[in-house]
Formats: sequence, structure tokens, C-alpha cells
Amino acid sequence: MQHVSSFAKGLWVPAGAGAREVADAATGQVIALAGNENLDVEGMIGYAREVGGPALRAMDFHDRARMLKALALHLNANKQALYDLSFTTGATQADHGFDVDGGIGTLFVFASKGRREMPEGHVLLDGGFESLGRTGAFGGQHIYTPRLGVALHINAFNFPVWGMLEKIAPALLAGVASIVKPATATCHVTELCVRLMLDAGVLPDGALQLICGGVGDGLSHLGPQDAVTFTGSAATAEVVQNALPRGVPFTAEQDSLNASIMGTDVTAESPEFDLMVKEVVREMTTKAGQKCTAIRRVLVPQPLLQPLIERLSSQLSGLVVGDPRDKATRMGPVVSASQRDDVLEKAALIGTEAECVFEGEHGMDRGAFFSPKLFHCADPDGAEAVHGTEAFGPVSTVMGYRDLGHAVALANKGQGSLVASLFTHDSDVARDVALGIGAWHGRVYINDRDTGREATGHGAPMPHLTHGGPGRAGGGEELGGIRAVKHYMHRVAVQGSPSMISAVTGRWVPGASKVEAKPHPFTLKFGDLALGRTLRTEARTITLEDVETFARFTGDTFYAHMDEDAAKRNPFFPGRVAHGYLILSFAAGLFVEPAEGPVLANTGLDNLRFLKPVVPGDSITVDLTVMDRKSRNEDYGEVRWHAAVSNQDGEAVAEYELLTMVAK
Ligand code: NDP
Repeated sequence: MQHVSSFAKGLWVPAGAGAREVADAATGQVIALAGNENLDVEGMIGYAREVGGPALRAMDFHDRARMLKALALHLNANKQALYDLSFTTGATQADHGFDVDGGIGTLFVFASKGRREMPEGHVLLDGGFESLGRTGAFGGQHIYTPRLGVALHINAFNFPVWGMLEKIAPALLAGVASIVKPATATCHVTELCVRLMLDAGVLPDGALQLICGGVGDGLSHLGPQDAVTFTGSAATAEVVQNALPRGVPFTAEQDSLNASIMGTDVTAESPEFDLMVKEVVREMTTKAGQKCTAIRRVLVPQPLLQPLIERLSSQLSGLVVGDPRDKATRMGPVVSASQRDDVLEKAALIGTEAECVFEGEHGMDRGAFFSPKLFHCADPDGAEAVHGTEAFGPVSTVMGYRDLGHAVALANKGQGSLVASLFTHDSDVARDVALGIGAWHGRVYINDRDTGREATGHGAPMPHLTHGGPGRAGGGEELGGIRAVKHYMHRVAVQGSPSMISAVTGRWVPGASKVEAKPHPFTLKFGDLALGRTLRTEARTITLEDVETFARFTGDTFYAHMDEDAAKRNPFFPGRVAHGYLILSFAAGLFVEPAEGPVLANTGLDNLRFLKPVVPGDSITVDLTVMDRKSRNEDYGEVRWHAAVSNQDGEAVAEYELLTMVAK
């Protein structure tokens, strides 16, 4: 018998007083004990705040992103052990793809986004510098800075690996230490995953702790700098929220009656009909329907009701249900006998409003097996339970709708869902449904014959996109790329001079002090390019001949450059003007250092603005200033330069940010 341990203050604490039994889902045999009433949760919270958090925040965003990548690589190399143990939760090999591989994939995505989309520093900017005066000598900048507390992640039983990794990835990237509390029924898998992550040797002490079993009075010790994220039932979410002291940020992801809608354009012969059948069956049976995103309600145009029920029933009748370790098995048991009883109870409630049109014959005398049940609700407008009862197993209800407006109203009757899918090949249907249901959903998934194998699936939350939903779904928001990292950071408006703002943010802003020095900055390596270092170029006068040569050479003979009278009729120009691209090209001609050197490549321009026309006879100069640096690898990094092009009167004519790769 395994004694599942918690990991507290750097030590493993085995199951002890008050431990609960954990059973194998397929056999019902007790395989582990978990929980310890004497766990010092208050001490763990203090340890995360005082040891783990500061150690994480001593690292910058890129250090932490590299740490996530190392964790992902280590888990990937050792995932067989997670697969092997996960079978005890009833999960099949295909289910492991969602939980284990999905979790590792999420770590990889945050690792990559952290390096690409976050600065190599400690402050995340929100928007740009807001000038608050006439000259720009004083302004403000919103920044995100990590919370100084701990993130407590309370998870549901269904995703012991992904559930943890999708929550800790953004928290750790933000610089906030995490305590994970998995559901007891599957905490032995989470424990193994935590052990593997610690073995990777990259997590600072105190960055990650684990509570297997209850949290005791731990919630009462949390404060406003902490954060609690929760996945599970609405009832538990309420209990947890009520136990928190005032001001503790709380995010819940709870019950969700996700719908799948067949478009009005679909016929029984359309590819979209087949796609929807496949999706509904997959969503009913993956993880034995124990997915927060699973399709619970199937909305179909009335004439296609019977054909759809027949196709779904025929697919479900061929389903192989059995021991998850058996390769032929397509669906394992639900997680526990008590969960099976709960699904039965909820299905019975749905059965008061809907007729069971398909029920598998997979009765098993041991373990927690549950046969898929498909219901048909003939009065979806009058029904309440089918829109409000989450039977957390392989249970779905099909409903016919009259027209698209009716379908939208029925989908929204779920009172807030994580996701709804739509199968249509008609762009008007797609727009009407997406706009009609958007406000009640966290994600709208549109699939048709064109998305091919790239469609990620109704039920798969992507790390790049928001996961969460309004209303019944809990109102929380997880994932969504760097958006998720901000949930563990605080936004503060900092006011001051541009130089002060630059010092705080680690990014030079126009107006901050500049240092003009020799040699040419293009002769300097990445590490020698200090923020604010500036090159002021010579001036170059632009002639009418330049404009005509440029026009002929590029083929851009737009009238504003070539026809004086036509240009004069244009309200923006005094007469013929130089091309914007001519200005950019001449600017480059002014600031580049031609000899071979550390600058490797020009990778793009951001925020380009042409501010004032340049007319023949004007002279331009460029101020090129180092704004920001971001290491890419051991050999080179990205340097962002601010290019300010001005005319002979010192007026700004163009402004942009130039991106270059510079050798180290
Ligand atoms: P629960 O709501 O029972 O538990 C969720 C988590 O909360 C578990 O880790 C649980 O720990 C913990 N918990 C329970 N009580 C407390 C408490 N007083 N203080 C702190 N933590 C607490 O969810 P389950 O995982 O058992 O799933 C039950 C139901 O939740 C499912 O049948 C389903 O209906 C719904 N669910 C919905 C999801 C969704 O997103 N739509 C996802 C998963 C579940 P412990 O296990 O130790 O009790």
C-alpha cells in the first residue's frame, strides 16, 4: 500500500492521521492512503512566501521560462512512469494524452511564450508610456509586478497532471511560489509528478509544495497578496471561497453544461455532420466523460434529430469499455465508486426531463464502470435539469432546435459555459452563433471541413487561449498565454519622468536620457549595448531627383510623389512629398555601419509612424537609441532600437522601433 506524501517546507511528509483510502478505479482495490491532519499548512504558506517566492523573483522572466522548459523536458523523458500510474485512475492511454502529454505541452508553451513575449527582466509592461504633460517631461506607465504571496491551486480529480501544470506554469513564470492541492482520489499521480519535477533539480527551494489530503485551516492563513485557483464542483467552490479571509483573489472553474451546435446549413450528408458525430462521441468517452469541457448538450436542427441520434447510438454501441490498461479499451471506468454513484444520481435527474435513447451494456461488477447514456429532451425550453445538471461522466442530451436564434437561446440556457462548439460551413451561421453565445462562453470552437487535422478539438483547452467561463462555469479565467501570467501579478501605474520610468521598467522610453558615445553601436556586441546608448547621424538632404529615382526604381509612382498638382489637392500634402519608404531607406543608409560586425540581421519594425511629410529640400537625421535587449541563445540576442527621424527644424517626421539580432 502506497503512503502518498505531501511535500512541505522542503521535506516529504507521508500520509498519517486521518488519511483517506485511494482505490484503483478499475478494480476497486485500495492502493494508497493519502492525507495527514498534522500537516503544517500555515508553515507551508509562510515557507512559500519567505523562501520560494523571493528565490523565484531573484530570477528574471527568461530564467523562469528556461526553468519551465527544463521541467517539461524532464517530465517528457519520464512520462512512462506517469502513464503507468495513471491507469489506476481509470484513464486509458489515449486519456494520458490529455492529462500527461497535455500538461507537459502546456509547460512547453509557457516556456516558449515566456522567452518570446516577456522581457528579460522583472517587470512586465502594460501598454505604452502615457505622456501627462505638454512636453513629455512627466508621464506614467502601467506595469505588472509579481504578487508577494503564494498561489494555492486546488484541483479536481480528473486531471491530476494537467490540472497542476496548467496552473503552476503561469504562476511560476510570474515569480509566485505555488502550493498544489490535488483531489485526494488521484493525488498519488500528482505526487509522482511533483517528485519528478523536483528530481529535475531546477526548482528553487520553496517554489513548489504539495498538499495531499485536506488543507486543514490553511485557507484562513491566506491574505491579499496570495491567490487561490480552484477547479471542481460549484458547491466546493462556494465552501472554499467562504473560508477565505477578505481580499484573497479567488478564481474558480466549476460546473459547465457545454453545448455543441450543428449549423442550420448542415445535412446528414455534409462533412460537418460526420465531424460533429465524431466530436460528440469523443467528448462523451474521453476520460469517461469526466472533463470539464465535455459536451453535455447537443443542439441540432429539428429535421436532423433522428439521424443524429441514430448515428451517435450506433457509434456508442461499438465502444469498447474495460480495463484502461487493455489496448483495445476505448473508455475506462470513472474515477471511483462514489463518483459513479454521483453520475447515476445526476443522470436520473436528467432522466426526469429527457428520455434515454441509448444506454450501453457495459455493466461491470467491480470497479467504477459506467455505461454511456444518451438522452433526448423533447421540450428543451421547459427543461431545467438538462441545462443545469452536470453529470460528470459519459452522459449527454440531444435537443432539437427550430432556428438559429432558438439554438443560441438554448446554448445560453447553460447560464455560462467553458466552451461551445459549432459545426457549420456557412460563415453567416458562424458569425450569428459566435456573437449570440459569446458573452456566455469562455471559448467558441467552430469546426468544418476546412480545418482538417489542425482542429484542436472541442474539449482541449489550449495554453494559448483562455480557459474558463462566466456564470455557472465559475467566472474564472486560466491559460490564455501571457494573459494567464498576469493573474499572478499586480498592475501598478508608475508616474515620473521618462528617465525614472526607464529605470523602473528596464526599457528605455523616448524622452529618457541618452548617451551619445563612440564607437558606432553596430560595432558593439550584445552585452555592451547599454539602454539609452544613442547614435546621432549626419543629415541628408532629400532632392526631387531622389524622389523620382526612388519612384522609378521601386515602381511606386503614386501621384503624391510624382504629380505636383494632384499632390496639392490632397489635404495631407503641401505638394510632392518623399515616399515613406524612401525615408526609412535613407534612414538606414544614415545609421548603418557597413563593415562586417556583431549586427547579424534586421528582423523587423514595430510601431512605425510617419508624422510629417518630407518635401524635396528637407534634410533628415536619425537618432538611433537602444531601447531593450532580449537574449535569444548563447550566441545572439534581440536588440530593439528606437529610431527617431527628424527634419532640419528638429520636427519629428518618422518614428519606429527597429529589431536586430546582435552577436554576443
Ligand atoms: P470537488 O469539488 O469535490 O473537489 C475539488 C477540490 O476541492 C479537491 O481537490 C478537493 O479535495 C478540494 N476540496 C474539497 N473540499 C475542500 C475544502 N473544504 N477546502 C479546500 N479544498 C477542498 O471536486 P471533485 O474533484 O471531487 O469533483 C466532483 C465534481 O466536481 C465532479 O463530479 C464534477 O461535477 C465537478 N467538476 C467540475 C469540473 C468543471 O470544471 N466543470 C472539473 C472537475 C470536477 P479532496 O479531493 O481532498 O476532497
